Amino acid sequence: MYDIIIIGGGPAGLTAAVYARRAGKNVLVLEATSCGGQIINTPDIENYPVEEHISGYDFGMRLTNQAKALGAEIVMEKAVDIRLNGNEKVVATTKAEYTAKAVIIATGSASRKLGLENEDALIGRGVSYCATCDGNFFRKKKVAVVGGGNTALEDALYMADIADTVYLIHRRDSFRGEEATVARLKTKENVRFVYNSTVTALNAEKRLKSIEVTNKDGSVSTLEVNGLFVAVGRIPENRNFAAVAELDESGYAIAGENCRTKTPGVFVAGDNRQKDVRQLVTAAADGAVAATEAVKYVNEM
Ligand code: NAP
Repeated sequence: MYDIIIIGGGPAGLTAAVYARRAGKNVLVLEATSCGGQIINTPDIENYPVEEHISGYDFGMRLTNQAKALGAEIVMEKAVDIRLNGNEKVVATTKAEYTAKAVIIATGSASRKLGLENEDALIGRGVSYCATCDGNFFRKKKVAVVGGGNTALEDALYMADIADTVYLIHRRDSFRGEEATVARLKTKENVRFVYNSTVTALNAEKRLKSIEVTNKDGSVSTLEVNGLFVAVGRIPENRNFAAVAELDESGYAIAGENCRTKTPGVFVAGDNRQKDVRQLVTAAADGAVAATEAVKYVNEM
């Protein structure tokens, strides 16, 4: 039996692993896809203390290596359930079951979709949720980015250096993301701001050819684009764990700043926790808090 199982190998989960290992606990990290979490898609991080610039990929890899060097075991399996067996927590993955005294759910979030009819069918054929992963396929082409948060702003900035034209489509007339990034975007001559508008249809033959954009005033226009980067927020990955952690109406796990859920010995850390500020630094902070609380729980069992 493990002392602590951490579900999710992003900044919150891996920071929790670092703290739990340094407290002498045996730790299993379960990661469904790739270690590092969603931050590995961020081209340049410049708001993490001490590091003036670091790519999300380098950040993710360095944190993974740090957790491994401290002795955390990392298994690439998707956790789908947590069940209680007395004080023991049984974590089921798609392949196996593991038991632990405490569990930290640090599953983060997944990309929200626009919900358009042929959106899924066009993934990889013009529609993408990750500019840094797929941006290079659109060199010197016309693309659109949809969203008004930091992800959309950073995606537009990234694509401005690659694509011929970048339309940044936002449903309001002011951005949710940081003013400094907006200011930088405004210096880019090939970025066109499309305010008060939503994407209402995707027109394609084999690949995306153009998008229909509807303005708040009811006018409809067509933009010829080869690529559409959807950056309209994230959905917390908590649905498999609703039996042990109370969720709010948006699906975020309800836990105080001590990261405790309604189930003793089950903690939640990172972007899937209900909170005001979702940043790399707050995910890492959650990991530290959740691990410290989990260690305390295990010691007192
Ligand atoms: P976000 O901040 O939640 O922004 C989502 C954006 O999409 C909002 O502007 C929202 O519009 C818009 N939107 C939502 N649903 C939509 C729909 N159906 N159609 C059209 N637009 C829609 O999400 P995010 O940009 O992914 O960022 C998530 C968190 O990560 C944030 O806290 C962000 O600050 C953080 N982040 C930080 C960094 C960094 O620190 N470098 C980088 C990336 C992300 P409204 O504004 O009208 O609601």
